[in-house]
Amino acid sequence: MSNSTLRITEIFYSLQGETRTVGLPTVFIRLTGCPMRCVYCDTSYAFSGGETVSIDSIMSQTEQYKARYVTVTGGEPLAQKNCAKLLTRLCDAGYQVSVETGGAIDIASVDPRACVVLDIKTPASGELGKNLWSNIALLKKDDQVKFVICNRSDYEWVRFKINELDLNSRVSEILFSPSHHELSAKTLAEWIIEDRLQVRLQVQLHKILWNDEPGH
Ligand code: SF4
Repeated sequence: MSNSTLRITEIFYSLQGETRTVGLPTVFIRLTGCPMRCVYCDTSYAFSGGETVSIDSIMSQTEQYKARYVTVTGGEPLAQKNCAKLLTRLCDAGYQVSVETGGAIDIASVDPRACVVLDIKTPASGELGKNLWSNIALLKKDDQVKFVICNRSDYEWVRFKINELDLNSRVSEILFSPSHHELSAKTLAEWIIEDRLQVRLQVQLHKILWNDEPGH
């Protein structure tokens, strides 16, 4: 039992739209608040509001779905210090846990059993300066790195960073997402093939299925 609380925007059950568990039934716990303002942000409704919920209550709400996978997301979940406690509770309960972070906050407090999905911000995101590069050394092999790519110059920057940071040896998955409305998935796919990059192209399943409505 714990009296710790978190500010929560929503808890819902859906299919994972991204990452290596795409398509799998997952409980999403969306924490409120984010210190960044990426130009393409599709979850600005999580910047404020929400309700204060105890970790015990989050655990019992999660349990009702009988899911194997749980994703803690935002906003920026790690901006709330009690997020680390939630991740540990979820791991203790036996879930396959992932945490989606925008990369501006130290990931050292994340339970090593949880998979970090580190979203590295590109120049066209408008938030390049917020990347906390010391996080790269903390990545585990099982973690995932994600880039939302807006245009060709973003792509070339990402290609350079993958080499510079030796990301293919550090993590098992490098995820490329075309920025919705800015770059077509087909164009990005052709660039990846042409350059023989060892990355995974992802098209956000929840946008195809539900047009990105909240709750999915
Ligand atoms: S880090 Fe994520 S939630 Fe925050 S502004 Fe960027 S895209 Fe939106």
